[in-house]
Amino acid sequence: MKKWAMIGTWKMSYDGIDKASAVLEEGGSAGDAVELAIRQVEDCPDFTSVGFGGLPNELGEVELDAAYMNGKTLGIGAVAAVKDCKNPISIARDLSNEKFNCFLVGEGAERFASLKGFEKKNMLSPEANDQYEKRKKEIIEENLSPYDGHDTVGIIGLDKNGHMVVGTSTSGLFMKKPGRVGDSPIIGSGFYVDEKIGGASCTGLGEDIMKGCLSYEAVRRMEEGLSPKEIAQPLVDEFSKKLEKRQGKAGAISIIVMDKNGNWAIGTNVEFSFVVARELEGIGTYLASVDGNRVKIHKI
Ligand code: ASP
Repeated sequence: MKKWAMIGTWKMSYDGIDKASAVLEEGGSAGDAVELAIRQVEDCPDFTSVGFGGLPNELGEVELDAAYMNGKTLGIGAVAAVKDCKNPISIARDLSNEKFNCFLVGEGAERFASLKGFEKKNMLSPEANDQYEKRKKEIIEENLSPYDGHDTVGIIGLDKNGHMVVGTSTSGLFMKKPGRVGDSPIIGSGFYVDEKIGGASCTGLGEDIMKGCLSYEAVRRMEEGLSPKEIAQPLVDEFSKKLEKRQGKAGAISIIVMDKNGNWAIGTNVEFSFVVARELEGIGTYLASVDGNRVKIHKI
């Protein structure tokens, strides 16, 4: 028997991880726990970067990305740029059982979801619409960058039977081009898990995270024998430097890493909050702040 554990990006994952911890405590599966936790974030209108209430694209439409990976079978399922789907993570989980056609985008994904009976919903909340109208004006009048305002919920779960799962869900960049897809549903970039080794998930500027396939790289380093602590921050530092050299600037990058025994670490180049829950230890929210070259983590 293993001790269960979960780690999730951003403090928005707290309530979901709290609920899902009870599932793991009772011997439930990592898959059920991760899906439940992410659905909780998707359903909450207060989180403006995931599910209902997520910020829209430049046409004012909410397009969502999500993915699910089973660390036992290595099965992956993902959807990208889907509209009007209440819980993209559940569609992604369903797709992870498919041998073919496991990553669907746009209308094809919506068609699959509706044939399978997944709940439909207009995902644009009145508040998100107000934000959109406000930002549209600001961009024109003040020449502001359209893309500020994004975050992904990424959660890694380990259950008592040693099974591991990772899931992600996001509305991507605020004011993105219709059809834009970031790292979150892309295997190896936004997420990766192999329960014989461990898992990882990223959040930040998808266009930059994808250039390093960072989640896969983290798991690959774990397989070589490095611990999450030896991997997470060095990987973000190293890759941010590489991007600075090659393109002048690195976007926001944060990564969560957990090994098959529930040992965890994070790496980041921006202020980053995250949630950890482990058997016998309970749940905690942490804040990582960047001070020059050093990242300090404290419990909040
Ligand atoms: N990685 C996401 C994307 O680029 C956004 C985020 O996690 O902040 O779509």
